[in-house]
Amino acid sequence: MRKPFFECEFSEILLCKNELHETLNNLSHWMKDEHVDKSLVTRLDLAFIRKDPYGVVLIIGPWNCPIHLLLVPLIGAIAAGNCVIIKPSEITKNSERLMAEGLPSYLDKDCSAVVAAGVEETTRLLENKFDYIFFTGSSAVGRIVMTAAAKQLTPVTLELGGKNPCYVSDSCDVQNVARRVAWGRFFNAGQICIAPNYVLCSAEMQEKLLPALHKAITEFYGPNPQESPDFGRIVGDRQFQRLQTLLRSGRVAIGGQTDEKDRYIAPTVLADVLPSDPAMQEEIFGPILPIVVVANMDEAIDFINSRERPLVVYAFSSDDKVVNQVLERTSSGGFCGNDTLMHVTLTSLPFGGIGNSGLGMHHGKFTFDTFTHHRGCLHRGMGREALHALRYPPYSQQKLGIVRVASEVKRKDACTLL
Ligand code: NAD
Repeated sequence: MRKPFFECEFSEILLCKNELHETLNNLSHWMKDEHVDKSLVTRLDLAFIRKDPYGVVLIIGPWNCPIHLLLVPLIGAIAAGNCVIIKPSEITKNSERLMAEGLPSYLDKDCSAVVAAGVEETTRLLENKFDYIFFTGSSAVGRIVMTAAAKQLTPVTLELGGKNPCYVSDSCDVQNVARRVAWGRFFNAGQICIAPNYVLCSAEMQEKLLPALHKAITEFYGPNPQESPDFGRIVGDRQFQRLQTLLRSGRVAIGGQTDEKDRYIAPTVLADVLPSDPAMQEEIFGPILPIVVVANMDEAIDFINSRERPLVVYAFSSDDKVVNQVLERTSSGGFCGNDTLMHVTLTSLPFGGIGNSGLGMHHGKFTFDTFTHHRGCLHRGMGREALHALRYPPYSQQKLGIVRVASEVKRKDACTLL
């Protein structure tokens, strides 16, 4: 992918280290039994949540961030006490080898294994019974993984993709928006699940955004991005050909150049794209940014809500009310106002999709919780049988009255007359 050094450090190394440090800093606290509220009946007993591992966990990763997307879940899975089988993507061969040959020398071989496998072997791997499956990849393969998991009743987390909308309102600092959108869209040559997939804005804003995006792209990558060390390449020929067909959407306003031998696609902006155009039919996963013109924010929100729920919604406006309206009236895995990608850097925020973009979440404590079975435990004393006898047959109205009062959850601030 010729991922620039900076982008590797940022997305593969720094985020993994942050996850690791966050986990090591807090693990002794997270793993402790959590004591919970008790009723009158159980007042003298121990009621707590035990943090149990699931058992054997399978982690399947994609190719676009081949280190981060395996190691971040791995950190939480091990922290929660599980044994782990790691399945890297077969598309990024070098990273797959690094994982298969390197990782085992740092991990306990009795508790972990790396399986280098393509689709056929992974299909067979999924026939086994796991105690948890954590899958990152496309929505299409997510369905296959969930179907296989259902046969064994295995719980899953699915971190999937989708089309992330980016609404740009008429009131904003256009140049700042252009830089932030261009950075998010062209990072890793657009091969990022949380990249803004398309811009929604008015026709007037499109006219202002185009020169601003052109300026931002030139500032970032110089007059010829193909010569820039800071712009990556498409992962493979199949993905390159797929992206080329998406270029036939709207009009090419910026970029559009391709070089198949180099798997290079220039940072490209497509203007006046229609919802029926090829670029709007699937997740782009490449350095192509379509702009779809809408009349106003309401139309943008309707557009977003008429499609599958995305991994993230982006909204740009100097008016906080507009950003909040987009947040409140849409549904997505995550949300980021006035920037792109940066929400993923916080280990304090859950990261995950909803609907077509995924199921479950991770990052920081959310990763630990994902790989933890929260076992509800009540440990009672052996004595006080007279109190216990209140719930044994033969039943009576009087016994029921006492049990009701002793175990009832009272409504707070309820009017006593009702
Ligand atoms: P993919 O779904 O093609 O492959 C992901 C993994 O599944 C790979 O390890 C692959 O070997 C395996 N796989 C592929 N076909 C399979 C099958 N039929 N049965 C079993 N396993 C199979 O995804 P990809 O092309 O590697 O990655 C790109 C996708 O991942 C995009 O849709 C992107 O949005 C998504 N993604 C999501 C996140 C997230 O955190 N939500 C992060 C990165 C990428």
